[in-house]
Amino acid sequence: MSQDTAQLYDIFRREINDRKIPISLGKTCPVKCAFCYEKDISYRETYPVPLTTQEHWEFILSEVKKHPTKKGESWIIGGNEYMEWTDLFLHPKAMYWLEEFLDTTDKDVIFFTVGYAEPERINRLAEKYPGRINFELSVITLSEPRKKLMPHAPSVAQVCKVLDGPAVTSANFYSFGPNTMSEDAQTISRINPNVLLWMGCLTALKYIDDDTCALMRRGRDSLADEAKKIYQAELPNTQMIHTESYITAFLNRKRILNVFDGCELEKGDTVAMAGNVYRVLKLFRRNRAKYLYVPNATLGGDSDCSTLLTFRDVAQRLTNETMVYLPKVIMERSSSDYRDISGESFEEFKEQFPRKRFRILHKINSHLSNKKLYEKGYLKNYVEDYLNEPLARKFEAVALPN
Ligand code: SF4
Repeated sequence: MSQDTAQLYDIFRREINDRKIPISLGKTCPVKCAFCYEKDISYRETYPVPLTTQEHWEFILSEVKKHPTKKGESWIIGGNEYMEWTDLFLHPKAMYWLEEFLDTTDKDVIFFTVGYAEPERINRLAEKYPGRINFELSVITLSEPRKKLMPHAPSVAQVCKVLDGPAVTSANFYSFGPNTMSEDAQTISRINPNVLLWMGCLTALKYIDDDTCALMRRGRDSLADEAKKIYQAELPNTQMIHTESYITAFLNRKRILNVFDGCELEKGDTVAMAGNVYRVLKLFRRNRAKYLYVPNATLGGDSDCSTLLTFRDVAQRLTNETMVYLPKVIMERSSSDYRDISGESFEEFKEQFPRKRFRILHKINSHLSNKKLYEKGYLKNYVEDYLNEPLARKFEAVALPN
């Protein structure tokens, strides 16, 4: 085996250890969506992986099979820790390999696509392997902004065809202003009353162009009205709103406070966090500890989420603290060691501050943020317990420090 192949297989193994099926197009994503979060990945280390060949695939599948099947665990098509993300159904063999995976393993699979999965074949596969395919269709929008946001994506007609069958588990789409998300919800529900509707806003980040950011912010301004219209429409589909971290933090304030109380911090302890959790603690646990607000400077824009903080973000905010508590969720990029989303390790970070000590708050982890906090992610919760809750206005009014 050449050195290049050995290195490539090492990357495959790393992705596979994180339950990814690392198929690649061998180039950056050709779809070029204006909102793409992969547009600038300079903050994280990725490796140029070539177009997946049959030989690569056989290696990947044999490695995947070495991992025992766990109940409730889904394997993601595409690497996304060490490789660039794309719509893998643009790979001419993706559908064959998906079928082989389902045929020769007993594992479940999850994939995200903007709609390049061929409608008849993917719906046939879903019938053949019921319950094993978790198909998250990134509709984004069927409304007017689609032309600007995703000029090279599949047509609305193709997306609707994919939706019309048993394959799609959930469809994600967003608010971009009045009558966007609410119209799309009704259209999608008419085509498929079983698909989960996953809604919200896209977040403006620093490397996304100004027009697209303006559209995203327009969507956020309309989110409440759009959500109320959907609420009143009484659609049969399960409806979730998940993308806005401040809503998630407020709706889960009791759980956040319980976990925080369980960490048994002293008044003088410094604990780092993003703005969403900062607001909760400032409002409900004022002066219980020192809250170090850390903006998501690496991603920039409107991002506000502890999971997406980097050690570099934290480093920029440190001053004269001697001891700082860090939520574990910052450093859970991969399952094998403590690294942030940019790939920097906890050890590397600590070396920069030999006079400071850091402790990890293990209870504040991705299990909590991914699973537990989703429990209140229904559109109904947003309308009834956030929009109609006066305390939420107080929460919104908590100022973030400079
Ligand atoms: S298809 Fe996905 S990865 Fe490709 S540009 Fe669009 S959002 Fe980005």
